[in-house]
Amino acid sequence: MSCNKGVAWRPCHCGLKRGFTSERDADKALGRAQAKRNRRADAIGTRRGQHIEQRYYECDYGLFHLTSENRSSYATRTNKMKAVTK
Ligand SMILES: [Zn+2]
Repeated sequence: MSCNKGVAWRPCHCGLKRGFTSERDADKALGRAQAKRNRRADAIGTRRGQHIEQRYYECDYGLFHLTSENRSSYATRTNKMKAVTK
């Protein structure tokens, strides 16, 4: 497992660079991002001000993206986007 270098991703049509093709890959990448965050937080002694992915979501193109947004701000933004495209 530890010899697995990174998780495969590909650019997504929605414009985001890192799109994972499965929930499993997104979950793996999320775990890696959080492990990195924790190591850095320990080094500098605080976790404030860090924009680190907290969860993943499936976008309209069927790929999974990591995001540092919490659920409510994401919902607000997507609702706004829907309203604009109408
Ligand atoms: Zn996408």
